This record gives sequence, C-alpha cells and structure tokens, in this order.
Amino acid sequence: MTLLCVPLVAKTVEQMMADMAAAKACGADLVEIRLDHLSDFEPRRDLPLLVGDRPLPVLVTYRPKWEGGEYEGDDKQRFEALCLAMELGAEYVDVELKVADDFVRLISGKKPDNFKLIVSSHNYQSTPSSEELSSLVARIQAAGADIVKIATTAVDIVDVTRMFQVIVHCQVPMIGLVMGERGLISRLLCPKFGGYLTFGTLGVGKESAPGQPTISDLLNVYNIRQIGADTKIFGIVGKPVGHSKSPVLLNAAFKSVGLDAVYVPLLVDDLVNFLNAYSSTDFAGFSCTIPHKEAAVGCCDKVDPIAKSIGAVNTIIRRPSDGKLIGYNTDYVGAISAIEDGIRGSQGVGKETVSPLAGKVFVIIGAGGAGKALAYGAKEKGAKVVIANRTYERARELANLIGGHALTLAELETFHPEDGMILANTTSIGMQPNVNETPIRKQALGSYSVVFDAVYTPRATRLLREAEESGATVVSGLEMFIRQAMGQFELFTNLTAPENLMRDTVMRYT
Ligand code: NAP
Repeated sequence: MTLLCVPLVAKTVEQMMADMAAAKACGADLVEIRLDHLSDFEPRRDLPLLVGDRPLPVLVTYRPKWEGGEYEGDDKQRFEALCLAMELGAEYVDVELKVADDFVRLISGKKPDNFKLIVSSHNYQSTPSSEELSSLVARIQAAGADIVKIATTAVDIVDVTRMFQVIVHCQVPMIGLVMGERGLISRLLCPKFGGYLTFGTLGVGKESAPGQPTISDLLNVYNIRQIGADTKIFGIVGKPVGHSKSPVLLNAAFKSVGLDAVYVPLLVDDLVNFLNAYSSTDFAGFSCTIPHKEAAVGCCDKVDPIAKSIGAVNTIIRRPSDGKLIGYNTDYVGAISAIEDGIRGSQGVGKETVSPLAGKVFVIIGAGGAGKALAYGAKEKGAKVVIANRTYERARELANLIGGHALTLAELETFHPEDGMILANTTSIGMQPNVNETPIRKQALGSYSVVFDAVYTPRATRLLREAEESGATVVSGLEMFIRQAMGQFELFTNLTAPENLMRDTVMRYT
C-alpha cells in the first residue's frame, strides 16, 4: 500500500504541531517534518515536542540548500539533529545520497528496529534516462538505504514513464516522484506502480516541492486508496489542463458505479509523443481538450465518421481487443442536445421529431474544435449555419466545409437577416479570469431568441447575462459540459452514465 505523507513546512514548532494534527484528521499515514523550514530550530528543545508528541509516524528531513532545501549550516549539526530524531523514535529519517555514507557510519549499530533510513536524490532540472535512473537506484541501495527516494523534474509528461518503469523494477521500497505540473501523475498513480509513499499537502501554498497535490484531492477526487495494480487509467489531455473539472466529475462517476479506474489531468505538449509513450492497455482512454482536439483525429487508428466530419476528436478509447485507438466526438451531441432542450423548455414543448433548430439561422462565433462540432451539429439538424471568427480564413474554411456562410467579427455586430436567430459562442472569450469580456456587443443581441455560451467558468458569463437582459433564452456551457462528459463516460465504460450524480458533482465544484 502506498502511504500518504503530508509535508510540514511551517516556520514554527507550534504551527507544525497544529499541522500534524490536521494531517491526521485528513487521513494521512505519516508526516514529513521539514526541520530546514523552521525559522528558529533548537534540536534539544524542539525535537522532543515534534517527534516525542507525534500523533502520526514521522519522516524527519533536514534538507540542505545544496539539495534544494533551506538549511545553510554544516553537516555535523544537521546529522546530530537527525540522530536525535531517530533516538526519539522517528520512524524515518531522510538523508541525501551525496552524504549518505557519512550518515550511515554515524548511525551504524544504533538503528532502532522500526527505524528506516531513506536515502534521497533530487534533480530540479530534468529526468535522466532509464539507464541513469537504474544506476542511481543501485548507488542509493549500495549506500545503505532501507528506502530509495528519487525526485526528478518533468520537462515533458513522457519523462514520468521512466520513473514508473524504475519503481516497478526496484528490489527495495522506493519513492519515485517527478516534480512539476507535467509530473503530477507520478504522484497520483503511485499505488498503481508500487511507490512507497506520495506527498499530499494540507492546502495550496503548503508544498515542499513543485507539483504536490493536496491530500484532500488525493483522497476525495482521485480516490487514491482505491487505486491498485489493476486500476485502469483515464485522463484529460490538454494544455492547459489544471483548471479542468473533468477529473472531479469522471472520478465521482467511476466511483459511483464501483469501477476500478482513475481519471487524471495530463498536461501534454506533444500528443503524438504522449500516445507513443503511454501505449500500454493500462491507459485505457483519454478526453482531449485545447489544443489537441484537431490533432487527435490524425493520432487515432480509427475515427468515428461524425468525429471525422467534424474534424475534431474529444474522446479516445483504447480498444481492449487489439489496443487500437478509436476517436469520437461527444461535444457535438452534448452541445446540440443542450440547445434543443433549452429551446423546447422555453417553449414548453416535448421532444418531437423535428429539431427546433431546423430552418433557423444559427450563428456560431469561433471555428475551433467546439465551433466545428456545433457547426456540424446545427447543419445536421437543418439549421442555416453562419460562422464568425477572429481569423476570417478559418470561418470561411468551416463554412465551405459544412455549406454555411462566413463573417468577420466586425460584420457580426450588424448581422441581422431576421429576428429569432440562435447564437453560440465557442471561443474562450469571457472565460475566467477575463469575465468582463464578451464576444459580441449587447446592442447586437436583440436579433437572437436563443444564446448559448460554451464557456462555463463562470456559469453565468457576461454574454449570457446580457442575452437574458435582452430577452433571449440562454443555455449554459455547463449543460454541454455535463452532456459531453456523460457521453465520454459511456464510451469509456460501456455503462449508462450516472446523470444525477454527475449533475450534482458539477454543481458542487463549479
Ligand atoms: P480551439 O479549438 O482552440 O478554438 C478556439 C476558438 O476561439 C478559435 O475560433 C479562436 O479564433 C477563438 N478565439 C480564441 N481567443 C480569441 C479571442 N481572444 N478573440 C476572438 N476569438 C478568439 O478551442 P475549443 O476546444 O474550440 O474551445 C473553445 C472554448 O469552448 C473554450 O473556452 C472551451 O473551454 C469551451 N468548450 C466548452 C465545452 C463545454 O463542454 N462547455 C466543450 C469544449 C470547449 P482563431 O481561429 O482566430 O484563433
């Protein structure tokens, strides 16, 4: 079982004791006491409190500046403090590989039975090759480590695969973590690959190394206690991806149906490299978001005809029978059904055969992945599609493709062939943090009876607020988000999506 360790980086002993109690209350298995973060540390005065009164097992670390810590004194005093921590009953002490021989000599013959020495190596620039990592493990083992710890830095998410490989093959317990946002899955998927422990902080800003998630997210979003060797991995591939609510939503949905699966954020720079590196069947499916939806079409072995027509894939599954990647698009149904239901709801009519989009002028702002999905869907439903885009050329290409009309953003302001048109924003204009922006002036909204905004953070965008004030029926991007995620869940699992749970989860987290 991978242990959950909360790093304690408070400046005072009192705060560290309080944080230790908080870590226990959160469900941590142990804490790492970072002595180097204490501003006025006095070993004989402070360690009996910190170690003697510990409510949880402790790992004591006194990291020097030269290994990325805060301690600037000499090793003699540092080692004395670490020895004292060991004598007081600390379950673990961490010492750096560069000085491990000296420390091992110092504690030789004095190690209590339940004590374990962690010998660590940190690389804040990159992640070495598999061969170099293996030889580093061997050197750490030879130095007398009970537990090997290697922390490197992810320049690309692909780097993490090398760490996973080394952990799986390591003969002794190993902590193998890859720092930075691109290394996040090394922290989330530890239990799958057999890492000895992973760090989870008490809150944002309380990290001891770049990229540490909170313990609350580890336990409550990623359900880390349920992850094991057989757990299937799904994730959202994007750049940026940290803001995505998909992990919250899909993990809650997986849990509710008892599926042995986890869904993680994947900050990917190069989709082809990523898919080549993570090619095992353990990585069972991916959601794709900005900027990878269009490139994803070319990365799949087979693409669903609708996704191919749209030219964007937002869901990739790895076919269990042969490992082939199959691409789909669930944005299209998610957005179009949300708009249709919004119109029907406002008119008080049920689901009849004819779409309420049929025959309507349907204006789409944006010609990216979401714009293409909406354009394709609206055309399918018999609407007269108009595309307005910042880059006019892209609007024209999309209009030509689906048989529509193209506009510049300036032309959109006075575009008014008829009343009662439908407007859909598929650009990121108005998205947090730029909540005061809007893709079209309020004065131009009078010609629209229905306005949809793909942006869902915030839920009520400026566009939707002004459209409502202008008398239009508004449809939130949140509705599209829920529906496209339900579509993804069904493709990933072949099960019916737990709609009520997914709606409740989205409402709680957005
Ligand atoms: P994308 O493929 O990168 O396309 C972005 C589009 O927005 C392009 O047409 C781009 O115009 C335009 N754009 C971007 N910044 C602009 C600006 N400052 N001014 C004018 N136009 C701008 O992205 P996407 O995947 O389609 O996503 C677009 C938006 O939809 C995002 O906010 C995303 O979060 C949202 N979305 C929501 C859902 C949902 O479930 N609610 C699903 C998918 C997407 P150019 O062609 O000129 O670059």
